[in-house]
Amino acid sequence: MGILPNIKSNDRPKVLVTPAQENIKKLKLKVKEMTRRKWFQDSPMLKISALNAVLRGWISYYRHTNAKKIAKDLDFWVNERLFLWLSKRHKASKRKVLDRFKLRENGKRGNFGVVNGDNYPFLYRMSDLPLKKYRSGSPDNPYLEGDWKTSAAQPEKPLSQRIWMGNAENVIWRELKEKIKAERGAQCEQCGSLGKLDLHHLVSRKNKGKDTEDNLQLLCRTCHAQTPSFGRR
Ligand SMILES: [Zn+2]
Repeated sequence: MGILPNIKSNDRPKVLVTPAQENIKKLKLKVKEMTRRKWFQDSPMLKISALNAVLRGWISYYRHTNAKKIAKDLDFWVNERLFLWLSKRHKASKRKVLDRFKLRENGKRGNFGVVNGDNYPFLYRMSDLPLKKYRSGSPDNPYLEGDWKTSAAQPEKPLSQRIWMGNAENVIWRELKEKIKAERGAQCEQCGSLGKLDLHHLVSRKNKGKDTEDNLQLLCRTCHAQTPSFGRR
């Protein structure tokens, strides 16, 4: 190795846990939450993308463990959950849902997916991620180093604090806010504050005010809280 520093004892994966029951439960709760009927307004594509982000994050946290079996069981469970959501959302028989959404992934296995132009977003399968067993000691053979070293970023937690639920309304709302901020400047339209900004309805939603630009005003939290309709919706 000459003058190269010995990196054997550094640069090891830091998270060496197996999926605890508690974290499996947390994942299931999150997926359940995302596939409730109140999210029927979401498109199947939005839903699959949001689920994929959660599943990818969760399993990559465990990629140095022997979680293959757990990943397979969870894949099956998520698949059923999405199946149910699609059936209820489209008020269609299971057969019809399968005909429409169970597609051939890479010309091979059947998986839930959506046709989107040339793209086919498919449900992410956690068991597809190659899991690497962590070796506690130094490898016997230095040429095997590649088997246990990683430079990929490690998520801090199995589930991040803030999760995109795939909520269509939120996405549209966020985009509208960004657009208005870009057009009018990112500051409170009343006091000029550059702090956290809300979109305020001039005519409230309760009074049939629309989510249109001419009915929306950028306000800081303080000014927003002083509007008569604040907190009433
Ligand atoms: Zn203000």
